[in-house]
Amino acid sequence: MGVYLDYNATAPIRPEAEAAVLRALRLGGNPSSVHAAGRAARAAMEMARAEVAALVGMPSGSVVFMSGAAEANALAIKSALAHGTRRLIVSAIEHETVLETARTSGVEVEYLPVDAAGVADVAWLKDRLARWDAADGAPFVALMLANNETGVIQPVAQAGALVREAGGWMHVDAVQAAGKIAIDQKALSADTLALSAHKLGGPAGAGALVFGNRARLVRQLHGGGQERSVRAGTENVSGIAGFGAAAAASKMLIDQSAWRDSSAERLVREAGVAVIGDGAPRLGQTLCFATPGFASDLQVMQMDLAGVMVSAGSACSSGKVKASKGVEAMGRPDLAPYVLRVSGGWASTEADWQVFTDAWLKAHAHHRLRHAAQPAA
Ligand code: PLP
Repeated sequence: MGVYLDYNATAPIRPEAEAAVLRALRLGGNPSSVHAAGRAARAAMEMARAEVAALVGMPSGSVVFMSGAAEANALAIKSALAHGTRRLIVSAIEHETVLETARTSGVEVEYLPVDAAGVADVAWLKDRLARWDAADGAPFVALMLANNETGVIQPVAQAGALVREAGGWMHVDAVQAAGKIAIDQKALSADTLALSAHKLGGPAGAGALVFGNRARLVRQLHGGGQERSVRAGTENVSGIAGFGAAAAASKMLIDQSAWRDSSAERLVREAGVAVIGDGAPRLGQTLCFATPGFASDLQVMQMDLAGVMVSAGSACSSGKVKASKGVEAMGRPDLAPYVLRVSGGWASTEADWQVFTDAWLKAHAHHRLRHAAQPAA
């Protein structure tokens, strides 16, 4: 199949998750049914709930299962709006599902800036919350725990403490951080936290919003009492069971920083690439770098031809390669069209990183030769 280093888009299914999906599919019942098949389906779901909750140090009852983090992010924002928040603060590097839900919410949106290394500016947030106008309702702040493009880990605990002090709602998209760094939702002061199964080695189409005591979720789907009446619709039992198994396996945190760093060192030394987020705390399996003049889409295609699967800044739903928004937010729009993201995970090996590095350096040398051979315009 080639070398797969695009885990931040989707991780390959873990064998234990695949087995749990198949087991749950065969149960057949509806978890709301009182008969034996229904009870078996519910038991599988509740086991998964405990496993997902444990991943972020929360009790089982705080997990609402849904279709993924897109839905979880939307539910957090829409719940805050339903409680009268008239102004949203979202970091400039949030995932599109947060940015677009905020942009289309009909209320004012302010963007928490990031510095040149891609780290959110907590001083800005402190100052902004100190000037908060009560007429705007309780503040709502969304800051992701780790960025999907750069892997940069954000100062969420500090931001969360400020938001709590201001009586606001702290939402944390922890999709990329889960399984890579330890997460204690209470220590982050996160009122809500979003997770997605397929980033952990579970199936796509299952995710969760994990909520604390202060969060008041407001249902968006009606007519069913599932998930404590917060999320109507018969639960995706097999997906949820796979999510649970993946969450349990993800207690063993993934850190490939030694492999990632030796790859980065070679790329810098032999091709002079700019490593994005270098110097900031980063996930140990994400490498994001820019090579001015070597376009992202060309790099992704060349790597694919060499049997190595990586991506531009982030996976784009349209299948097109777009300039990296995160790198633009870091004040480097000049680098954004030239970004490549390489991300390993549970099944990656040191050899995978080496194959990628060799293949990329070869493609880069070829590109430079062709470029140099072109007559000046
Ligand atoms: N948040 C982040 C940081 C992500 O990387 C993703 C996945 O692309 C999502 C949210 C959305 O997750 P899903 O597509 O599983 O709903």
